[in-house]
Amino acid sequence: MYNSLIEVIEKYDTIVIARHIGVDPDALCSQLALRDTIRLNYPNKKVLAIGTGSAKFAHIGRLDKLETVENALLIVTDTPDKKRVDSVDFSQFSSIVKIDHHPFMEDFGGLEIIDDEASSACEILMRIIYSTKLEIDSKISELLYMGVVSDSNRFLFDSSTPALFSLISYFLAKYPFSISECYQKLYLRPMNEVRLEGYIALNMKVTENGLGYIPITNDVILQFGVDSASAGNMINNFNFIKEVVVWVTMTEDVKNSQIRVSIRSRGPEINKIAEKYHGGGHKFASGARVKTMEEAMQIVNDLDHLLEKYQSEVETNDN
Ligand code: AMP
Repeated sequence: MYNSLIEVIEKYDTIVIARHIGVDPDALCSQLALRDTIRLNYPNKKVLAIGTGSAKFAHIGRLDKLETVENALLIVTDTPDKKRVDSVDFSQFSSIVKIDHHPFMEDFGGLEIIDDEASSACEILMRIIYSTKLEIDSKISELLYMGVVSDSNRFLFDSSTPALFSLISYFLAKYPFSISECYQKLYLRPMNEVRLEGYIALNMKVTENGLGYIPITNDVILQFGVDSASAGNMINNFNFIKEVVVWVTMTEDVKNSQIRVSIRSRGPEINKIAEKYHGGGHKFASGARVKTMEEAMQIVNDLDHLLEKYQSEVETNDN
């Protein structure tokens, strides 16, 4: 399958690399790493990484301007469905490739390289590069590592397998970079965000079934002087609370007139409930975008019912 990817890359002189809306480090790092790898190995090709950037991740790397292209290949990383691909008109492209680690949602009509057990899109790229002997450099190696670290939340999940650590070891030895500088790029944050984290810890409601939830309204966002995207990303900092098995943030995004509902679990699988509200995601990390806080609260209620069932099953199994 990886050889088919090389064949299709070799066939096109112009290649555009896209990823999902609401950019995050794995999405960004996977598209930049792939762009830079193709540029390094095929210097005569025109390769563009496109999509809406974010000031927060500007230091990770620069995106390219979207141009009208002809007879071009589109490669989409880290995205399972067409509607969430950022800034792309699919009809413009002669061929399409998907490289993704989300559960399958939709065929893009070309080569599909999917592994929903992989920690990240960057891990799949590491495997591709390792298997096909594409050349990379230390900058690309760092991008790949950042994507893995970010999506695995620093290796907290079962997707952190021996195979992944072996790959990382191989890349780090062959294409070294500074781990501490890499973590600064990912994790340095302003005091305002830490203060908002404190607010969430103080105000999160927890049901007796173990569901933690909190609305983060625009007033709160303004009060703490953070942006809506950063507020929404705080969900990842609330794992490992004894009383909380599933947790939800409902972040108001006035610019897009929507509420970003972000859900995490270390118990039941939650992606089916996210899908019910036209969202989706991984089994234990999902999300949806709804119009009102009332709708967001319906998701919270569904999750609480799911947890009630889950807790009674756990109890039965324990007895
Ligand atoms: P979030 O925490 O809001 O970034 O969402 C977690 C994950 O859920 C994302 O990385 C996506 O895989 C998925 N997700 C979030 N919102 C949606 C949506 N509207 N449609 C499909 N998948 C989504």
